[in-house]
Amino acid sequence: MRLLVFFIASLLSLTNWGSTGHRALAEVASFYLTENAKNKINEILDGETIVTVSMYADDIRSDNRYDKYYDWHFINMELDEDYEDAVPSEKGDVFIAINKCLDILESDSLTDSDKSFYLKLLIHFIGDLHQPMHIGRYEDRGGNRVYVKWFGRNSNLHRVWDSEMINGYNMSYSELAKNLPTPENLEIEFERDDLIDWVNETHSYTRKIYNDVSIDDNLGYEYQYQNFQIVRELILKGGMRLASVLNYLFD
Ligand SMILES: [Zn+2]
Repeated sequence: MRLLVFFIASLLSLTNWGSTGHRALAEVASFYLTENAKNKINEILDGETIVTVSMYADDIRSDNRYDKYYDWHFINMELDEDYEDAVPSEKGDVFIAINKCLDILESDSLTDSDKSFYLKLLIHFIGDLHQPMHIGRYEDRGGNRVYVKWFGRNSNLHRVWDSEMINGYNMSYSELAKNLPTPENLEIEFERDDLIDWVNETHSYTRKIYNDVSIDDNLGYEYQYQNFQIVRELILKGGMRLASVLNYLFD
C-alpha cells in the first residue's frame, strides 16, 4: 500500500512547478491586483480564484482533446542561446502561448467560456515561464532525462525544480507565499516587450542549474540550501509579474 501511494505520488509530481509553486505564485499575484482587475477576474472565473485555477492547464494534459496545448508549457533552447536567436517551435511554446492568450483576451468578440479558458491558461503559463527547467534543452526534455538522486531516491533535474525542493519544505502554498523575499520594486507596468526579457532572465538560471549538476549526482540538503532562494525569488517575481499582466488586461 505504501509503495502504491509512493508510486502515485511520484506520477503526480512529474509535471510543472508542482501545484504548490503554481498556487503560491498565483497567491502572490492576488496581493497586487487592483480592485478593478479583481472584480473583472471574479466575474470571468465565476466563483473560482486565480489560485484555484492555476493548475488547470496541467490538469487537462491527461485529456487528449487538449493535445494541441501540450507544447505550450515549455521552451526548448540551447544553453548559450537567447530566445530571439532560437528557432521557434512550430507547435508553439510558452512564450508563443502567453502571447496567444493575450491576443485572444484582448479581442472584443470573445465568448464567456473562451475568456475563462484562456485566462486560466495564461495564469498557469506565466508560472511555467518562471520555472528554469521549463526553458531547458530539447535533448534531455528540459532536464527530465538528467537523472539524479534526491536524498538517495531516483529523480531528475526537472522534477527537483518542479516539486522536490518545494515539497521538501512541506509548506502549504499560502505559507510559501508568505515566506518569500521582500520585493524591491513594487511597481511593474507591464508591456508586451517585457515577455522576452522574462524568458531570457529565467533562462540565465537554467544555464547555471545545468552546469552545477552531473548525471547520477545525489542531491540533498546542501543543494536545497543553495538553490531554494532562487525558487523563492522566481515565485515572487513571477507572482508580481502575473499581477502586472492581469492589471494590464483587466484594469
Ligand atoms: Zn505547465
